[in-house]
Amino acid sequence: MSFAKIVKEVLFTKEQIKKRVDEMVSRIDKDYQGKDLVVVALLKGSVVFLADLVRGFTRPLAFDFIGVSSYGSSTSSIGMVTLEKGITVDITGKSVLVVDDILDTGRSLNFVKNYLQKFKPKEIKICVLLEKKETRLMDVRADYVGFEIPNVFVLGYGLDYEDRYRHLPYIASLKEEYYNELSAKITEPSEGIVQDRTAGSSNGRTAGSGPVGLGSNPSPAASNTAKNV
Ligand code: 5GP
Ligand code: MG
Repeated sequence: MSFAKIVKEVLFTKEQIKKRVDEMVSRIDKDYQGKDLVVVALLKGSVVFLADLVRGFTRPLAFDFIGVSSYGSSTSSIGMVTLEKGITVDITGKSVLVVDDILDTGRSLNFVKNYLQKFKPKEIKICVLLEKKETRLMDVRADYVGFEIPNVFVLGYGLDYEDRYRHLPYIASLKEEYYNELSAKITEPSEGIVQDRTAGSSNGRTAGSGPVGLGSNPSPAASNTAKNV
């Protein structure tokens, strides 16, 4: 499927993203002066943003990845987040900066924060490229935000539509007609729980093509499918 067919509007161009990410890097780099920084990025949506972010830092840092899957619903507050990949870098006593592509309902970052707290870091801060303010269901606040956006489904610069288009250098909104295509493929969630599937289990991640993040979007229905977000 061509980009032009699914893209409604380019919200942020490559140049606008670069300018904003550079501003964020300067501020974050300054804020972490003298701190032992570990950047923990959520797979897969944050990878492009992470790569641009960390290359601007002038201080030593470690980075690691965390994998979560989201189950969401637009029609109720039921939601489930599962841990698919835990951290391997030691964060005890360290300053952790969690990096994600977008803060939407807040379920993923709320889950990740709770998970990381168990390792007793010195502090945890959150950095997201995008934030949808209207859709928050959990009490999570980002310390660094690139752009605020309305409640539309976006893709590009790491963000996917059906696991594609993450490589686009710009951020665009998806045409509404594709929201309907997505919701036709998905069904109701079963349980509203949050769980750690890596604990004592060898389960792989649940494959699915459901629209992660559509939980808060205007038209799509609920999802019981999951994927790394
Ligand atoms: P949460 O609802 O837990 O705050 O967000 C979970 C994840 O859903 C985000 O990290 C992101 O991967 C995905 N997400 C939320 N909104 C969008 C969106 O508009 N587009 C895409 N591609 N993903 C989204
Ligand atoms: Mg994500």
